Amino acid sequence: MTNEHITATLQSIKAYAAEHHVPIMEDQGIEFLLQLLREQKPESVLEIGAAIGFSAIKVAVALPGCTIDTIERDNGRFHKAVEFIGEAGLEGKIRVFHADALELELKELGSSYDAIFIDAAKGQYDRFFEKYETLLAKGGVLYCDNMKMHGLAEQEISEVPRRKRTMIRNIKQFREKMMAHPDYDTTLLSAGDGIMVCKKKQA
Ligand code: SAH
Ligand code: MG
Repeated sequence: MTNEHITATLQSIKAYAAEHHVPIMEDQGIEFLLQLLREQKPESVLEIGAAIGFSAIKVAVALPGCTIDTIERDNGRFHKAVEFIGEAGLEGKIRVFHADALELELKELGSSYDAIFIDAAKGQYDRFFEKYETLLAKGGVLYCDNMKMHGLAEQEISEVPRRKRTMIRNIKQFREKMMAHPDYDTTLLSAGDGIMVCKKKQA
């Protein structure tokens, strides 16, 4: 598919996201993630949290040899993702799974991915990690978006609005767990809304 198709689709996605309040990645965050992926050169990526396909399409365009599997639980967003990916002509490179990632059976997916990108329910990253890290190849990389939660995850818990405390506590705990995890080399980057990069050790 031509570049013009993809550019047009990305514009439609951004307009749709703005209109319907879909939290797609910010430009700075996605460009930064793409830079990391260009350096890593994965051949397969698993994304948890497709929304309407924006980040999956950006990754597919940035990494021509790479295939992407992405999971979305919301019915409306799932259908929009499929539609936009078709419009961009990328249906051969991106598979969208309509499921709650905590319920999807692993056998539906590939057996191994070079990269996993988590960008879904913020309080549940540890559960996604525990379920899916078995699919991450040794030497592969886990990327996690929204590790700053727009600054909330940088504050003392007493400063955080009560209804968000559990989620923020979970994020803080997950960051600390990955920082201390013996099987991963973890870096927390402040680009976008905070991207955590966890490289799975070879041995
Ligand atoms: N990566 C996208 C944005 C994702 S927004 C982009 O940048 O273009 C987060 C999405 O995760 C939402 O659409 C939400 O419905 C989805 N989500 C949250 N929890 C989920 C779960 N347990 N399983 C599947 N999708 C989930
Ligand atoms: Mg995000």
